[in-house]
Parts: sequence; structure tokens; C-alpha cells
Amino acid sequence: MNWHLHFLGVGAAHAVELGSSAVVIERGDEPLLLIDCGPDTLDRYVAAYGTLPRALFITHTHMDHVAGLEQLFIRLWFDQRLRGSTKVFVHAGLLPWLQARAADYPGALAEGGVNFWEAFRLLPCTRGFWLDGLWFDVFATRHHVPGTSYGLALDASFVYTGDTRPIPETLARYAGGSEVIAHDCSLVGNPSHTGIDDIEREYPDALRSRLLLYHYGSAADGAALAARGYRIASANERIALPVPAKPRADAG
Ligand SMILES: [Zn+2]
Repeated sequence: MNWHLHFLGVGAAHAVELGSSAVVIERGDEPLLLIDCGPDTLDRYVAAYGTLPRALFITHTHMDHVAGLEQLFIRLWFDQRLRGSTKVFVHAGLLPWLQARAADYPGALAEGGVNFWEAFRLLPCTRGFWLDGLWFDVFATRHHVPGTSYGLALDASFVYTGDTRPIPETLARYAGGSEVIAHDCSLVGNPSHTGIDDIEREYPDALRSRLLLYHYGSAADGAALAARGYRIASANERIALPVPAKPRADAG
């Protein structure tokens, strides 16, 4: 079975030309899980797969990661086949913000008669979640306010950091083997994001060689990161993944 990370977008919030950072985990060429849903993500997803996502994980509630949820609500609600069935995994600590950002606006539908979450199957989680017999670990990242952003890991296959500063202790736990590590990085860091100097200060050589950098500020920034010897992800690129391990005995 082939496994891939399919990047729909790789940009920072302002890097519109690179697409909002979002990725699809593919198993055997089929989409299994979408991570994040920015303003352009659904169009890119439908262009790639001809259908709407059946499972979605939200890393955090900045608009470049959740602005597509309203569009997804409408499209799911008016699709009798899909209505109420697309799983939305979100850390329980994010629920108040996600509710405020996406679900609280009066009159989810102009005609009335429906609550926002009725179009979805909302699955709050903390340590992680099960999907199709696989256990996905969820971990907190460092995105200026504690408890507001989370990453995702699939044992022996990949780690996806979401938006974050360097998290060496967390990667030591979830990326101790040969996992692909998709990591937030631009040329210059800030209190919410990783810069290349942070990468070089915080991570050992062996780990840096497994990094796949995304969420950068421009095409030129991406080229500069690549010129420094780093692997960068591009929009529409599919990255082969190691096959995940069977879920651990203590998973869940
Ligand atoms: Zn972002």
C-alpha cells in the first residue's frame, strides 16, 4: 500500500500565491484525512479528488486554517449523501474558539432550520483519535498562546507540526525513527512560527535531514530554504511516506 502526503497549499497566512497550508494523507491513492481547511483548500481538494473530504483534522483556528469551514458546511448540508457524515477531529481545547470563529454566526443558513455542526460529525479529541483502524497522535505545539495549536503524528510514518515554534521534545517522542517531519518554517521566525535559524539551533543533523519544510512566506523564501539544503514542500506535491506501524498496544 502506498502512502503519501499531498500538499494542497504550503503558504504562510499572507502567502496567498502558495495556497493556504493544508495537506491530505493518502492511503493507496485515496484521500484518508485532510488537515486544515483554509479559504482556498476546498477548491483545491475538489479539483484533486472530485469530491468533498470525508475526514478533517483542524490544527488551530487562524483563518488561513479554518476559513473554508463555512463553505464546507453549505456544500455538505446540501448533499444528502454526505450530510452529517464528514468527521471533524478537533482538540477539545479548541472548541470554544472554533465555535466562535466558524459556528456561532447567527443563521448558519439563510433559510434557517439547521445548526452549523449538523452538517458534520464533530469528534473532539485530546491525546489523539482513531480513523479507519489507525491511531493518530495529537500533540500541542508552540504557537504564541499555549493550548491554541496542535500537530498530528502517525506512528512510523509522519509528523505534521501545524503552525509552531521549534518543538524538539515533542519530535523526540513522535519522530524517533524515520518518519517524514512536515515542519512549519520560513526564512525568518516570529513568536508564532519557526525560522531557519531556529531549525539550525534547536534540531540535530539527523532530524534536520528528515524535515520537509512548509508554511513559508513566498516562493522566493522557499527557494532560499532549498538552497540551504533543506527539502521543501510545494503546492500540489505528493510526498511518499513510510508505511505506518500497527497501532501501539497503549494507543487510545
Ligand atoms: Zn498558518
